Amino acid sequence: MSNRVIPIRDIRRDKTIPRARVLRAPGEPLRDTRQRRLHDLRISVTDRCNFRCTYCMPKEVFGKDHPFLPHSEVLTFEEIVRLARLFKQHGVRKIRLTGGEPLLRRNIERLIEMLADIGGLELTLTTNGSLLARKARALKDAGLDRVTVSLDSLDDAVFQAINDVEFPVAKVLEGIEAAAAAGLTPVKINMVVKRGVNDHCIVDMARRFKGSGHILRFIEFMDVGATNGWRMDDVVPSAEVIRRIDAEMPLEPIDPNYEGEVAQRWRYRDGGGEIGVISSVTQAFCGTCTRARLSTEGKLYTCLFASAGYDFRALLRGGASDEEIADAIAAIWQARSDRYSEIRTKETARMQKIEMSYIGG
Ligand code: SAM
Ligand code: SF4
Ligand code: SF4
Repeated sequence: MSNRVIPIRDIRRDKTIPRARVLRAPGEPLRDTRQRRLHDLRISVTDRCNFRCTYCMPKEVFGKDHPFLPHSEVLTFEEIVRLARLFKQHGVRKIRLTGGEPLLRRNIERLIEMLADIGGLELTLTTNGSLLARKARALKDAGLDRVTVSLDSLDDAVFQAINDVEFPVAKVLEGIEAAAAAGLTPVKINMVVKRGVNDHCIVDMARRFKGSGHILRFIEFMDVGATNGWRMDDVVPSAEVIRRIDAEMPLEPIDPNYEGEVAQRWRYRDGGGEIGVISSVTQAFCGTCTRARLSTEGKLYTCLFASAGYDFRALLRGGASDEEIADAIAAIWQARSDRYSEIRTKETARMQKIEMSYIGG
C-alpha cells in the first residue's frame, strides 16, 4: 500500500484529513491515537423510518416536510460493498446494518448476500421489528447472522407514546419470535430507558424475557443528535436498573465475551439467562471503542457524537482507486482521538451533533 493519502474535504466544515502519519505494516491492525483498533463498522442504509420515536426522530422535526435524502444521494449496494471490503482489509470483522429503519431499504436481503460473499465478516442488523416477522427467514437465508430488536415497553400505551405512530407491541414480539425461529440467534432486545417515560417497565421487561433465550439490554438515554431535548435527569443509571431487577430476580455479573464489548453482562442466579446494560452516560466506554460509522450518504464518522464526517461518496464517485480509499480510511482512523462520553457535560449535550437516524445507531 502506498503512503499517499488523498485529502477528503468535509462538506460541512471543509475539514481536511491529515496525511497518515505511519501506515501500518501489512497484517497489523490499524490503531488510533489511543491505541484502539478498527473492528466494527456500522452502516446506515437509510435515513428513513416508519416510527417517530420521541427520543430519536421527534415528529416536530421529522415531519412531512423533513428533507430526507433523495435516492441519488444514498450509497448504492455496490458502493457499500466496495467500502466494506476495504474496511475489512483494515481489520473490520463485524458489520451492523442500521438506520433509520434498515428493513425499509428495498432489497436489503440482496445487500446482505453481497456482504456475506466477502466472507470473514459477522453480519448483524438493528431493527424496530415492525417488518421482521415477514422478513426474518429471507434475512437469514441471505447470510445475516443475528438481529437486535428495539422494544421499549410491553405496555401498548407506553410503547405507542414512544414510537408515536400507534405501532403495537404484539407485532414486534411476533418479529422477535420469527427471528429466533429463523436462527438469527441469540436475538438481542434493546430497551432505551428514559426516566418518567418507561422506567416503570424495566422489571416487567426483565420478567418477560427471562428464560426466553433472548438477551435483553437496557440502554441509557443518550444526548445523540440535537432534537431529543436530552437532560441528565432523564437518564436512569444502569446501576439503578440492575438494583431494581436484582431485588426481584437476583443477578450476578459475568465476564465480557470479548474485549471492548459495549454491554456489561449480568446473569440470573437461578439460571434464567442473561441481560446486559449499556451505560454510555454513567460509565463511558470510549477507551475500548472500536467502532466506525458510515452514514446513508457515505460519510464516515469515528464517533456517534461527531459533528463532522468524511465524504467517502465523493471518493467513490470521483474515481478514486481502492488503494486511495484504503489509505484514506487508514489516515482517518490513525488521526482519531474521539472520547465524547468521557467528556460529556451539560454544555456538550447542547452542541450540534449528527442525528442518530442519519449516522446509524
Ligand atoms: N430503527 C432501528 C431501531 O430502532 O432498532 C435502528 C436504528 S436506531 C437509531 C438504533 C438504536 O438506537 C435503537 O435501539 C434505538 O432505541 C437507539 N436509540 C435511538 N436514540 C437513542 C437515544 N437518544 N439514546 C439511546 N439510544 C437511542
Ligand atoms: Fe426509527 Fe429506530 Fe429512531 Fe425509533 S429509534 S425513530 S425506530 S430509527
Ligand atoms: Fe465511541 Fe464516541 Fe461512544 Fe466514546 S462517545 S464510545 S468514542 S462512539
